[in-house]
Amino acid sequence: MTPPNIPAKLEHFIGGAHAPSADGATFEVADPVTNRPYATVAAGAAQDIDHAVTAAARAFTEGPWPHLPARERARILAKIADGIEARAQRIAELETFDTGLPITQARGQAARAAENFRFFADLTVTLHEDAFRTNEQFGYVIRKPAGVAGLITPWNTPFMLATWKLAPALAAGCPVVLKPAEWTPLSASLLPEIMTEAGLPDGAFNLVHGIGEVAGAALVAHPRVPRISFTGETSTGRTIMAAAAPHLKGLSMELGGKSPCVIFADADLDQAIDSALFGVFSLNGERCTAGSRILAERTIYPDLVTRLAARAERIRVGDPAEEATEIGALVHPEHYARVLSYVRAGLDEGARLVAGGSRPPAQPAGNYLAATVFADVEPWMRIFREEIFGPVVCVTPFDGEADAIALANDTSYGLAAYLWTRDLARAHRLAGAVEAGMTWINSHNVRDLRTPFGGVKASGLGREGGAHSLDFYTESRIVHVPLADTRVPRFGA
Ligand code: NAD
Repeated sequence: MTPPNIPAKLEHFIGGAHAPSADGATFEVADPVTNRPYATVAAGAAQDIDHAVTAAARAFTEGPWPHLPARERARILAKIADGIEARAQRIAELETFDTGLPITQARGQAARAAENFRFFADLTVTLHEDAFRTNEQFGYVIRKPAGVAGLITPWNTPFMLATWKLAPALAAGCPVVLKPAEWTPLSASLLPEIMTEAGLPDGAFNLVHGIGEVAGAALVAHPRVPRISFTGETSTGRTIMAAAAPHLKGLSMELGGKSPCVIFADADLDQAIDSALFGVFSLNGERCTAGSRILAERTIYPDLVTRLAARAERIRVGDPAEEATEIGALVHPEHYARVLSYVRAGLDEGARLVAGGSRPPAQPAGNYLAATVFADVEPWMRIFREEIFGPVVCVTPFDGEADAIALANDTSYGLAAYLWTRDLARAHRLAGAVEAGMTWINSHNVRDLRTPFGGVKASGLGREGGAHSLDFYTESRIVHVPLADTRVPRFGA
């Protein structure tokens, strides 16, 4: 179902005004239910990025934003949150239409987007600068916004993830240039009016649409952008790090995952099954923290596989705009083909398909895949090792704690881990041993925005969340003052 008043044309927003690309270039964007183009989008290139960075740099050097008292900035951030809340239904509709995310889940993303701004509004007024004292010396920190921040976001939960970067960057006093993912530019088109209505000064928020290798690459290469916050694939992260190296930019890298959900025989199996299914099939499985490898203790393995498969078969796949839908349409035909290629790889490599694996018969068109469960997945198989980023889960048996840890860590990724056991000492041992940036014991992915967010190994570099985000967007400078007579070695005396 197409929501009303979808704009047929999406433009950049630079220095407080909408603008087409300097060379007039555009690209088409389609929705994942019909795969028919619904809008033409300005295709940004180096010149557009340069205009946006120039506007942001002017807002940094001449504008009021970096110098406003924290309370003033916080007021505007809170108004941005109000603007998001006032449009919550519209944001959810657009997100569902553009990404294929089920509407009930898109609503949660819109609410979290508003919370991101409220949270960083609160944090910025409590931010303090450290001081250090010895008997001889006093040192105090001056914290300054780092400069223009380049924000590059992926197509999964695009509005929420954009705000997760926009809110701390703006809270820290950094003007921004946002480059949203080319497959899902729609919800970002609401940001200009939200920002302007809230009273954000012109040039503090700039938006440039475009293809990653062109617009994104130009942003990364621009010498006047000292910070790049990137969320996306690990391979893209590597390219960006290499491109940023000559400029020695500060980078925050939130990358892919292949997170384990480890279930011991003594766990509350009803809860563990609910969590494992939600963890991998919510957000269409297009979720960086998806628990896409379920590791089950061998004594419960056969029963667990049967129960997971039975539940997966009942998951409602369909029109993302329907209230009852649990899995919607995958974002793009290219991504759909990629996910299907992993299903074929699983079959070819000898994994046992126990649920799904193909298009549901009720959905003859659109990028739909039934909730898919593979059992007997071995660690050498591609479906165990590579991020699929769709509604596909692997189940693998383990024997005892050491085996569980070895299997959990047998991946290049390290974003999240979910541990299910009633033996809490064991749970804490595992939490220390499993290589993951974020671990949940006997629970699913619920976040406290103050906590560090990020991955280890190939899942990322740096942390976002709470003070970590503000540290990233600011420079801490130290000033030293003597408290006693200054004794200097007298060279040449
Ligand atoms: P992607 O890497 O293809 O694209 C992400 C963004 O980078 C897009 O805006 C794209 O246009 C841009 N881009 C592409 N090439 C670029 C280049 N050379 N220079 C600069 N920018 C470039 O990722 P995707 O397919 O959009 O998103 C899915 C991936 O994101 C998955 O791997 C997922 O795990 C990851 N992800 C991670 C987190 C996290 O917090 N760790 C959160 C969400 C998604």
